[in-house]
Amino acid sequence: SLTIGIVGLPNVGKSTLFNALTKNDVLAANYPFATIEPNVGVVGVPDPRLDTLAEIFGSQRKLPATVDFVDIAGIVRGASEGEGLGNKFLANIRESDAICQVIRAFEDENVVHVDGKVSPKSDIETINTELILADLQSIEKALPRLVKESRLQKEKAQVAAAAEAAQKILEEGRTLFAAGITKDSEQGRLLHELHLLTVKPFLYVFNVDEDELVDDAFKAEQQALVAPAEAIFLNAKIESELIELEDDEALELLQSMGQEEPGLATLARVGFDTLGLQTYLTAGPKEARAWTIRKGATAPEAAGVIHTDFQKGFIKAEVISYDDLVECGSVQEARAKGKARMEGKDYVMQDGDVVEFRFNV
Ligand code: GDP
Repeated sequence: SLTIGIVGLPNVGKSTLFNALTKNDVLAANYPFATIEPNVGVVGVPDPRLDTLAEIFGSQRKLPATVDFVDIAGIVRGASEGEGLGNKFLANIRESDAICQVIRAFEDENVVHVDGKVSPKSDIETINTELILADLQSIEKALPRLVKESRLQKEKAQVAAAAEAAQKILEEGRTLFAAGITKDSEQGRLLHELHLLTVKPFLYVFNVDEDELVDDAFKAEQQALVAPAEAIFLNAKIESELIELEDDEALELLQSMGQEEPGLATLARVGFDTLGLQTYLTAGPKEARAWTIRKGATAPEAAGVIHTDFQKGFIKAEVISYDDLVECGSVQEARAKGKARMEGKDYVMQDGDVVEFRFNV
């Protein structure tokens, strides 16, 4: 499955956040016999639709989609030079599908800042500089080979040209993601073989003081700093306390801080979206469940997420949109009102589709 690597300078609250994420582990709750890697936190994507479906179908349990967060050892200035931890750090990021930067915005004289002062902007630059330098090295290393190969292979000339264009962007101090080059873009596809870091989607967690949680001007400023990436604002220390509380107590604490949901929930939702994923829903007396597919997946691909045989033997999918189903109150009623559609193998799944697959075995 796809993973989000958590990176950040030392002392910004990464471990605090990651511990909260792992305690929130839905895998442990729902799959008691699953082996869980110590540096992976599997977090449920909050989905209130499952509660409603479970009521309609009388489902015994609810299984949300999940996102995997990986704790990546602290970045240090000079990581791109491949010193000690640096190599391992870059290798770990290379394996992640998205990069989540934790940025310190909280003030606390008892917690030392590696650069002596709290400055989100310069911290972001420090991390991005290491990633950019690593990408520049990869390109510089690959270019002579690409130029040579392009004499015989026309498509390598395209790759070489894309690499040179990427080099220009990086030399200006910009990440490829910020420049609009994503892995599914044409440029991104050409660059695939170079395994660059900054084409991965980014998201930013600002670890803020309580007053900043409700400071819209501050938040808008930070969001502008990291666009087109998404910014999430939370207080890691409070998040670690929230998960220890009963639901109603947690809600009370959140409301007292002017928040609607825990920061971890927001992080899971935004992270899931940043990975380019979406869900479809199934429901029955056993379980109401959200299944993970990439955006744009077809009905047979969606069936394959449940079981490869479902994809191979796919005949059709009976699809009811979540809203229609809730309005009708039952599958029978939705069918009677013509709200249940039979979709074939070319159907592109939509968010909130409630599905039953028909297949040959
Ligand atoms: P890491 O080095 O990035 O993993 O940072 P840690 O999670 O170990 O946190 C470093 C220190 O900052 C610890 O003493 C934490 O208790 C503290 N800390 C983490 N988050 C917050 C926060 O939101 N507010 C304050 N005041 N302290 C925090």
